[in-house]
Amino acid sequence: MKAFEFYRARSVEDALSCAAQPGAQYLAGGTNLVDLMKHNVARPTALVDINRLDLSGIETTPTGGVMIGALTTNTAVANHPLIRGKYPVLSHAILSGATAQLRNQATAAGNLMQRTRCRFFMDPAAGPCNKRRPGSGCAALAEHHREHAVFGASPSCVAVHPSDMAVALTSLDASIHVQGNSGARTVPIDEFFRLPGERPDVDNTVRPGELITGIELPPPGFSRTSWYLKVRDRRSYAFALVSVAAGLGIRDGVVTAAAIALGAVAAAPWRVPAAEYLLRGRPPSRQSFEAAATAALAEAQPLPRNSFKVDLGMHSVVRALTLAAAVQ
Ligand code: SF4
Repeated sequence: MKAFEFYRARSVEDALSCAAQPGAQYLAGGTNLVDLMKHNVARPTALVDINRLDLSGIETTPTGGVMIGALTTNTAVANHPLIRGKYPVLSHAILSGATAQLRNQATAAGNLMQRTRCRFFMDPAAGPCNKRRPGSGCAALAEHHREHAVFGASPSCVAVHPSDMAVALTSLDASIHVQGNSGARTVPIDEFFRLPGERPDVDNTVRPGELITGIELPPPGFSRTSWYLKVRDRRSYAFALVSVAAGLGIRDGVVTAAAIALGAVAAAPWRVPAAEYLLRGRPPSRQSFEAAATAALAEAQPLPRNSFKVDLGMHSVVRALTLAAAVQ
């Protein structure tokens, strides 16, 4: 591990000041960053410990939504009565990820900022990786890409984002609050993550030195009639092969609102508006769910060894919608 400076921030302003130095990174739960540092994948010049900042907690907003403090642990988010009651899809998504010990340590903002688990990114000895070392190549592209993207990839990188929480947040139209030295701004979650293009080393639109302060959820368009389905190689402690966050508003036997976000299919959670459109104004039937599933995966561009994700994705959309509609 490369030597680094260590600062313990006493305030948001203090944190922003410390993080202004080139190569500095914030340290919260550290469940991903510290691993990457041990393997020489992340090599920060300085760590700015933000764990003592007053950025945790969950409260209602004046508009009837919820604000989640950036340093709230994943466990606290998943188990909070407001989240369980109004946004159960978020609670289920978080509880499907990692382990209890990791969820106790990891923070909401850290969950968004975690890096891909592509093995060539995680292990410098495994092969070249444009995300880890720009311009070096992509060892996954030719062959080892079973878990990789079917949407939004580029010749530079075909990795997927590993977060379950981000998929649920995308279905809920969350916004991310960030603070920088030049002021605060709010980023809609569909503008937060970046597709790789020619810069796969840049995962998101957070600018250097900016600090995530909170995650805002609007009033729920759907609540109990939602589901998070995660399909993976083993039942626990595994990242998704495909996941689906699905929410339905149903009134008088007709779908009035629909949200579907797919996970583990792209470098960002993948919302499918064409599929949502097909559901609205129709009964929540098997037929309409299958039509939506076909539309959701219609533009997938699988790689030679992950074309199974297209079929798996369609079946998963049907199943997630069916389970969401069945919730009373
Ligand atoms: Fe690296 Fe992306 Fe290729 Fe994986 S898919 S080896 S993260 S460039």
